[in-house]
Amino acid sequence: MLATEQPKPSSHEQTHPNVEVKKPLYTRPVVLTTYPTQNKSDPFPLNWGASSPQKRGPITVARSIETLPHRNAIGAHGGSYCVYNSLAVAGGFLPADHHPDFTLTEPTFDVPKVASWHDKNKIVAMDPYGHDTPRYFKEYLEKGYDIRPTIAITRANIRVTEIQRSVENGSLKVDGKIVLNKEGDIAVTKVAVEPVWYLPGVAERFDVDEITLRRALFEQMGGAYPELITRPDIKVFLPPIGGATAYIFGPPEYLSDPTKKLAVRVHDECNGSDVFQSDICTCRPYLVFGIEEAAKEAQNGGAGLVVYYRKEGRALGEVVKYLVYNKRKRTGDTADQYFRRTEELAGVRDMRFQALMPDILHWFGITKIDRMLSMSNMKYDAIVNSGIPILQRVTIPEELIPADSQVEIDAKIQSGYFSDQKKVTEEDLTCVHGRTW
Ligand SMILES: [Zn+2]
Repeated sequence: MLATEQPKPSSHEQTHPNVEVKKPLYTRPVVLTTYPTQNKSDPFPLNWGASSPQKRGPITVARSIETLPHRNAIGAHGGSYCVYNSLAVAGGFLPADHHPDFTLTEPTFDVPKVASWHDKNKIVAMDPYGHDTPRYFKEYLEKGYDIRPTIAITRANIRVTEIQRSVENGSLKVDGKIVLNKEGDIAVTKVAVEPVWYLPGVAERFDVDEITLRRALFEQMGGAYPELITRPDIKVFLPPIGGATAYIFGPPEYLSDPTKKLAVRVHDECNGSDVFQSDICTCRPYLVFGIEEAAKEAQNGGAGLVVYYRKEGRALGEVVKYLVYNKRKRTGDTADQYFRRTEELAGVRDMRFQALMPDILHWFGITKIDRMLSMSNMKYDAIVNSGIPILQRVTIPEELIPADSQVEIDAKIQSGYFSDQKKVTEEDLTCVHGRTW
């Protein structure tokens, strides 16, 4: 060192003595749980399909110091929101060892216990005991283990513009119980569900072996979750994807009561239409039709159910969806090319794969659907093949279909979607054009 050089300060503290130095977020070394023999791995026993929550065992993914050795599932809570959780911890907004206080969060109604909860074949994509975790596994929580609910049940009023019009014109009556007032507020029970996958059961639904499913998940998620490969002893995975929300109209207990009539819509998210009323598809009109019919069924002494799945753009996502829109609009947008344009880009026409969808219906104890507010053959087949008969399928009324979405609806009917209103021929498909820009 030259005599004129000043020694460099060795730390931040020396240059700014008044600035508080951030403590490192993690003081303990990283603990890998890649192999069963590592670090005293002692997963809580988990018997999917067992006859009671205690026999089944708690599901835990937590990496807190108390729970880590007992982890018996792969992934994280919160679906895709686990990533924001990481940012909150990294940014110092949330202590990594935060333990939630579940006091007063319990469901707003007593969910009837039904046989499907302990049927390995009926429910594989959600935790049947996920709504009452703090109660079922109280003693674990008291010992400091981090175990969380994956289902939440609350009550709300909803207000939908189109339905307000139905109340105004008298086609939907105010009854003070379901439709609360002339503004069209509708009373609902809401059930939010995060996905919890029992991998052997999910593999079976897709008719593949479990090893193939695990390998595909590992590879297609960029090599994340190595335990999918190295921990075949861990059978449950909480995938980083959106779940579903069920809106119940009328007494929730009626869903499992076969003497009560039930109207159901299972809806897959389409943000552009559902929220922003973009007119290229029939998603919002069908959703609103579903809500109104579900409310009417409840008014008639039955119950209604609308299940909203986060499967944006046929589970291809909005980027792919909009790229397909551009392709369609730049090639004349005819119904006969509708699916081909998606296939050219995504390789498949649809990635929603309804195989896991009926689980929530079984969780509610539904044994038949009187009116199914959907034209989708994929949803129909999945529900009926899972053992729930559908007595009537209800087509969206023609007057609710926006002009630009005729391409979509005709292509779908021609490909096998149910319609009691129209038949679509090959010739029709080439004639039906969407709007060009
Ligand atoms: Zn849509």
